[in-house]
Amino acid sequence: MLRLKPGFQVLARHAGFRARGLTTVNASRSLRRATATLLIGCTSTAIAAYFLLPDISRGAPTCDNIPLSPSHFTPAKLVSSTITSSGTKILTLAIPPELLPEESDLFAPIWSVFIKDDDIQVERPYTPLDGVDENGNMKFWIKRYQHGEVSRWLHSKQVGDIIEIRGPLKTWSWNDDTWDEIILISGGTGITPFYQLLRTVLPGNSSFQGRITLLHSSKTLSELPPHDILDPLLKFAQHNPEKFRLKFFVDSFGENKGQSSIDLEVHKGPIGKESIRGALHSVSCFPWWRGLFSQDSDVSDRKILFLVCGPEKMVEAIAGPYGRNYSQGPVGGVLQSLGYKSRQVWKL
Ligand SMILES: Cc1cc2nc3c(=O)[nH]c(=O)nc-3n(C[C@H](O)[C@H](O)[C@H](O)COP(=O)(O)OP(=O)(O)OC[C@H]3O[C@@H](n4cnc5c(N)ncnc54)[C@H](O)[C@@H]3O)c2cc1C
Repeated sequence: MLRLKPGFQVLARHAGFRARGLTTVNASRSLRRATATLLIGCTSTAIAAYFLLPDISRGAPTCDNIPLSPSHFTPAKLVSSTITSSGTKILTLAIPPELLPEESDLFAPIWSVFIKDDDIQVERPYTPLDGVDENGNMKFWIKRYQHGEVSRWLHSKQVGDIIEIRGPLKTWSWNDDTWDEIILISGGTGITPFYQLLRTVLPGNSSFQGRITLLHSSKTLSELPPHDILDPLLKFAQHNPEKFRLKFFVDSFGENKGQSSIDLEVHKGPIGKESIRGALHSVSCFPWWRGLFSQDSDVSDRKILFLVCGPEKMVEAIAGPYGRNYSQGPVGGVLQSLGYKSRQVWKL
C-alpha cells in the first residue's frame, strides 16, 4: 500500500471537502473527472516524491522497549567519537543489549542502519563496521560533507547524546559459494561495507574458498581509512596472501608527500584498467600472449565478481552509471571495456 506523506494527505482531504459542495449532474460528472484527475495527480506526485526525495524519514515511530527493527526508530547512545581525519570521525553508538533482535542472520553482511537527524527529521543509511557486538555497540566511519545534512549533524553530536536508528537493512546479500574471485573497489568511506564483509568472511566464518582483492582509493594520504579499518585488513593480508590482497591509491600524496602514518604501499593515480587486470588472479595466470588476441574476452564466463562502492563519479568510471532511481544500470566504464557482464558487477 502506498502511504501518503502528511503533506499529500492534507492535499487529498482538501480536495474531498471542496467536492462535497457541488450538486448538479454536470457538476457531479465534472466532479468525478476532477476527483479522478486529482487522485491520479496526487498518487503520481506521491510516487515521484517517494523516489525523488528518498531520504526523508518515512515517519516511523520511536520505540525503546521492542527489538531494533526497520519499522521503528530505536534510541541509541553515542558512546565514543574520534576524529580520524579533517573530515571524518569514528562514531560508536550503543543500544541496550536487550533490544538486539534474536535472529542472527539479520546481521549477515552487508547491512546498514538508517540514522535520523532529529532536527530536520531526515535519515541516511550508514554501515556498522564490525556489525553489532553483544553489548549493542555499533562502530561507524562517517565522512562530513560540507553541505551535507545528516553527516554534519552527526559530526556535531557529543558523547552521551541520543541518536535514533532503524534497521538492520540489507545492502547486498553475501553468498559463500557463488564466486571464485571477488574484487572490491572502493573510494573514501565506500570502504565501510567492504570492511564489514571482509570482517565476516575472511576469518574463516564462512565456507568461501575463493580469493578477495580490495582496491581502495582516497583523495590524499591523510584521507586514507583510519587504523581501526586498515590494521585488521593489513594483518589478515600479511598472514593470508593467497586469500586476500589489498592495494591503495590516492589522487595525490597531499602534504605528507608519500609518508602515510601507516606502513603502506600507496599508488598515485586512479584505479584503472591495468590495476584491475593486475588484481585478478585467474586472469593474470593466463599466458601473456592470450591477451594479444582475446583482450580478456572470456572473462565473462568466469566466476569473478566486482563490487564497487564510492563517490558516484568513481562508480561511473569503473562500472558505469547507476540506472534510474539508483537501479544498477548497465555495466559501463572500465569493467565493460574489460568484458565483464551485469551478473559479475554490483554497484553498492
Ligand atoms: C547503504 C549505504 C551505506 C552507507 N554507509 C556510509 C558509511 O558507513 N559512512 C559514510 O560516511 N557514509 C555512508 N553512506 C552515505 C550516507 O548515507 C550519506 O549519503 C552521506 O553521509 C551524505 O549525507 P548528508 O545528509 O550529509 O548529505 P546530503 O545532504 O545528502 O548531501 C549529499 C551531497 O550533496 C552535497 N550537497 C548538499 N546540499 C547541496 C547543495 N545545496 N548544493 C550542492 N551540493 C549539495 C553535499 O555536500 C554532499 O556532497 C552510505 C550510503 C548508503 C546508501
